[in-house]
Amino acid sequence: MRIDAALRQARSRLEGSPSAALDAQLLLCHVLGQTRTWLFTWPERELNADQLARFQSLLARRENGEPVAHLTGEREFFGRPFRVTADTLIPRPDTETLIDLALGLPLAEDARVVDLGTGSGAIGITLALEQPGWQVTLVDLSEAALQVAQTNAHELGATVICQPGSWLAPCEGRFDLIVSNPPYIEDNDRHLQEGDVRFEPRSALVAGQQGLADLATIIQQASDKLVDGGWLLLEHGFEQGEAVRALLADAGFGQVRTETDLGGNDRVTLG
Ligand code: GLN
Repeated sequence: MRIDAALRQARSRLEGSPSAALDAQLLLCHVLGQTRTWLFTWPERELNADQLARFQSLLARRENGEPVAHLTGEREFFGRPFRVTADTLIPRPDTETLIDLALGLPLAEDARVVDLGTGSGAIGITLALEQPGWQVTLVDLSEAALQVAQTNAHELGATVICQPGSWLAPCEGRFDLIVSNPPYIEDNDRHLQEGDVRFEPRSALVAGQQGLADLATIIQQASDKLVDGGWLLLEHGFEQGEAVRALLADAGFGQVRTETDLGGNDRVTLG
């Protein structure tokens, strides 16, 4: 079968996915070890039987709801490919808002930075690569996730320190910048029954106190772990901006403000 025909067929097979065409392209790229540009350049190339069989088997799993990132083993974040497994959250484009904000802060060239609950390492590794002078630490409670982060750092050429543990507990000294995309979804949120989140670690998604428990813990710990004039940058749910700003103000943070994500929703608050 030709590439263009296989993609057409796959797209209609994946009709249930909101991104059927893209899903089909990414899965075929994975099977062929090629880029999307290559696919569009050679629509008439024939797939051999083995390639077709592997593509069909990935399509069947995608039809079953498995995230494309789990099927290909990677997801692009801030222009770089990050490995992901069932032990890590799949990086979201909305989190790039947090990166833009962090890179815009008035920080020293050798700033000490920590990414709490790093997962695949997408946030901390991106910061380490964009600002090679920053000394970046990655923390996660999950040793399996930290292993994925370590592999990503190695493959992408980032120098980072990986520390297992809960939020700031394993960290010595003070930081100029603390960043985190912690779990912030409420346990009974319907959103947890739809799409990719069904296959992602609960521990990376769900938090108590209407999703605010981990955000509150981090804010409380951060006030003692920042240098004077240091920054805390937190991703949160689109309806949590006001609550997070209040928690920051209560903990003594100044210059508190919330930024919106690509969809125009409250997503990241800093102080
Ligand atoms: N933004 C993700 C979602 O809604 C959740 C990320 C998180 O809990 N930190 O699917």
